[in-house]
Amino acid sequence: MNKNIGLFWLRDDFRFTKNEGLIEATTNHDQVVVFYLYKKEIYKYQEAQKWWLSKSLFNFRKQLNNLNITLEIIETNSFKIFFDKLIEKKGFSIYWNKVYEPDYLKLDKYLLSILKNKNINHKIFKGNTLNEIDEIKKNDGTPFKVFTPFWRTAEKYYIEKIPPKEKIIKKCKKKINYFKNCIDPDKILPKKNWFKNFEKIWFPDEQTALKELQSFINERITNYSDQRNFPNRPGTSKLSPFIKFGQLHVQTIWSQCIKKKSKNIGTTKFLTEIGWREFNHSLINYFPYMLKGNYSKKFDKFPWLKNSKFLNAWKKGLTGYPIVDAGMRELYSSGWMHNRVRMIVGSFLVKHLLINWKDGEKYFRNCLLDYSPASNVAGWQWVAGCGADAAPYFRIFNPILQGEKFDKEGDYVKKWVPELKSLPKKFIHKPWEFIDKKFQLGRDYPHPIVKHEDAREKALNAFKKI
Ligand SMILES: Cc1cc2nc3c(=O)[nH]c(=O)nc-3n(C[C@H](O)[C@H](O)[C@H](O)COP(=O)(O)OP(=O)(O)OC[C@H]3O[C@@H](n4cnc5c(N)ncnc54)[C@H](O)[C@@H]3O)c2cc1C
Repeated sequence: MNKNIGLFWLRDDFRFTKNEGLIEATTNHDQVVVFYLYKKEIYKYQEAQKWWLSKSLFNFRKQLNNLNITLEIIETNSFKIFFDKLIEKKGFSIYWNKVYEPDYLKLDKYLLSILKNKNINHKIFKGNTLNEIDEIKKNDGTPFKVFTPFWRTAEKYYIEKIPPKEKIIKKCKKKINYFKNCIDPDKILPKKNWFKNFEKIWFPDEQTALKELQSFINERITNYSDQRNFPNRPGTSKLSPFIKFGQLHVQTIWSQCIKKKSKNIGTTKFLTEIGWREFNHSLINYFPYMLKGNYSKKFDKFPWLKNSKFLNAWKKGLTGYPIVDAGMRELYSSGWMHNRVRMIVGSFLVKHLLINWKDGEKYFRNCLLDYSPASNVAGWQWVAGCGADAAPYFRIFNPILQGEKFDKEGDYVKKWVPELKSLPKKFIHKPWEFIDKKFQLGRDYPHPIVKHEDAREKALNAFKKI
């Protein structure tokens, strides 16, 4: 046993299973301290995630306590300054798992060099993906830009890998405190308490994630392919925030899915979605400029409109298009939105309202519990048509037809836009055609802020300019 104190730097890894860095720390040391660095700047536009983070820290700390491990939260303005100070201390070893974002990977390189220089024992482990980013490349060594060949290669590569021996976490001998001026998880909570509703829906911890995964596999995965596009059915797993914060490792998802039985079409489709997540992580690391701008440079000339009235109506779910409004209200109220509806509201913003996808990306970042730079930026650029392997810009979703196809009975709209509850099914996705004394458009529900056909034509004309 190493006499040093084992430090584990906790990032997106709130779990005990497949947490290689933490497991290694408890294997090598009698005394382990887990620390979380809270950098306010990062969470400036991630209000909803402040809630998930705060609860995750609280719940994880409780469980670590049972293993005689302390979890200490330190507020800092700069990771670099924090580590420059830390390496002046003696008598510790340090471990962490990778986060696949360009800034974190750059920081890792810096840390590895200073730790080596100071002769401090350290080890960095694979993060929450199936494969390492640089393991999946085309035969000529360049990155994939199209999903299907990427996933064919990535899946095969993963299946052929020899799985590492499963290790388990050990209880430490003695609990110690290591850092000064630590903060409580509550300090991270958003100032405004609009998130109170989240507490009724989500419980951010690993046990819940594993239970949800099992119930999805046992009850819903077989029909995933058929059901995943209907926002009012429990067709998808809703595991995304757990995956983002690492309460669930994607390798656990993979192995549990495969264990159930040989792959059926639902399982194959579900794992392909995990594949999209892998693809997005690969994209942002090979093309980091896409985190700030268009992957496809020709979109730099796109004539986006600045229209705060439209943008606000979209954010508030008051566009007059029921499926769009339902999605935006689901997002604000629950911190999550169904994938089909993310595509519809995204398309509406960039094509019907001609507002830059970056404005939508920023609002999603602030409201989504599952916000991840890779999937949000890639998702938005897919919708806008400027991403890698994206939906072409000229394919414009018709929000009325999308509603009628994927929310046929109107139940999703009725749940999130209660002012339309009394409308007959026939009118639920086009309330402007409903004439009734008890319902008045403009008073009970907004007029559509743009007319679909006009907006479509305008979008196509704007696209011609690039
Ligand atoms: C505009 C837009 C923004 C998005 N922003 C995010 C984001 O910030 N974070 C995020 O995790 N996902 C994002 N997505 C992808 C997708 O909408 C969510 O992952 C999915 O809705 C989560 O619900 P679920 O867990 O029930 O998914 P399931 O259908 O059960 O899928 C299982 C898991 O696969 C992954 N996944 C599923 N679909 C996708 C996809 N299209 N792209 C990448 N990964 C996927 C997620 O980790 C998900 O939890 C975005 C999509 C769009 C169109």
